[in-house]
Amino acid sequence: MTNIICITCPKGCHLSVDENNDYAVTGNACPRGEAYGKNELKNPVRVVTSTVRVEGADIPRLPVKTDRPLPKGKMMECMALLDTITAQAPIKVGTVLAANILDTDVNIVATKTL
Ligand code: SF4
Repeated sequence: MTNIICITCPKGCHLSVDENNDYAVTGNACPRGEAYGKNELKNPVRVVTSTVRVEGADIPRLPVKTDRPLPKGKMMECMALLDTITAQAPIKVGTVLAANILDTDVNIVATKTL
């Protein structure tokens, strides 16, 4: 049994997930908590938010994020990849700066127009 807190909404339900019973979830106040609890133990994912270098702008870093959640096990590789990217201004919010990173179908996109 693993105890985790659901971060899907501000209520923060305390979940218990039973790995020996098909990842049965208890403690959730809604179905989203059940899905979160199962995924968190079977395949945890996170949206990555960070910055990359940018040239030709008034600020040195461009805010970026992944356009969908990335497996948690790939997060360090993702951060290393972000360190290699240099964006060129002008740039629009939503512009894809790196596609299909780490063969995950996840893209890195700008979250600010510069
Ligand atoms: S189980 Fe439902 S109500 Fe509870 S924190 Fe998760 S999303 Fe919110």
